[in-house]
Amino acid sequence: MLPWRARKGERTPPYAVWLSEIMLQQTTVKTVGPYYAKFLAKWPTVEALAQSPLDDVLRAWAGLGYYARARNLHACAIAVVERHGGVFPDDMEALRALPGIGDYTAAAVGSIAFDLPAVPVDGNVERVVTRLFAVEEALPAAKPEIKRLATSLMPESRTGDFAQALMDLGATICTPKKPACALCPWNDKCVARARGDQETYPRKAPKREGRLRRGAAFVVLRADNRVLLRQRPEKGLLGAMTEVPGSDWSHDFDVGSALDAAPKFAKAKWRKLPGEVTHVFTHFPLALTVFVAQVPKTAKAPNGARWAEVAHLRDEALPNVMRKVLAAALD
Ligand code: SF4
Repeated sequence: MLPWRARKGERTPPYAVWLSEIMLQQTTVKTVGPYYAKFLAKWPTVEALAQSPLDDVLRAWAGLGYYARARNLHACAIAVVERHGGVFPDDMEALRALPGIGDYTAAAVGSIAFDLPAVPVDGNVERVVTRLFAVEEALPAAKPEIKRLATSLMPESRTGDFAQALMDLGATICTPKKPACALCPWNDKCVARARGDQETYPRKAPKREGRLRRGAAFVVLRADNRVLLRQRPEKGLLGAMTEVPGSDWSHDFDVGSALDAAPKFAKAKWRKLPGEVTHVFTHFPLALTVFVAQVPKTAKAPNGARWAEVAHLRDEALPNVMRKVLAAALD
């Protein structure tokens, strides 16, 4: 569990709940732990985070994935300062109106930090509720029904404790495989348990895999141990993150004409690395062919690009796919 869990009788600060919940979206507690500690140490308040340049936030986020969350985190910190004087609002509508805060995060912050009557429904809660009531509809279509059923279980007071207890029940007792039903406080009411088919819930619609996209990545190494980097556009996948120059990524990418998209350097000799660097995004898998070229110390960076010291690459806001590309090229 993350350190935002308050001690008995204490209320968890909304900033801590919000930060951890944004980080935990699509990411495990184990991965989030060190990032959460780093963010709280660097930016102990929402004001400090709001005052920091976006680039610093993206750098600190690098490696955690789903970078839109980092941009929204920063935008939300600014909005809390500008709209609410640096204090998270104790009102569900105002919470939902903040950048990057959807139903789930609003319910988590609202219930855990302010005891508002809301139930945050994450994957753990979905599992408990669908088993308890034997919900036959498949996810994600079943989400509104699960929310309604979860809300029907909510007590009138201590909604924050209830929300955390429900999430903990799903994480530790009502586990995906072999749930410990004998320890569950609802075992006499659970429909799936009575039928003995708990593990078949929640029902899930079959997954549709995205089509493979291909592209090229160009690693230009300067003789003084620098590598050419540029920033991705603000909007879209990996927005505002750092990358090596590359081609577009498409289903019908033609590796034969990949060098048309390479940065132009006089006399640069491109070497194609064997194999491809692969990465799986939420909606599609990607395979990149990596080309490497060495250029002299005097080479100038093309417009929109810059040279970065190889020794300091770990401090750059490079997404995992680009770290894989650089690892392959610098090996
Ligand atoms: S009885 Fe078992 S399946 Fe039902 S909610 Fe409890 S742990 Fe989950």
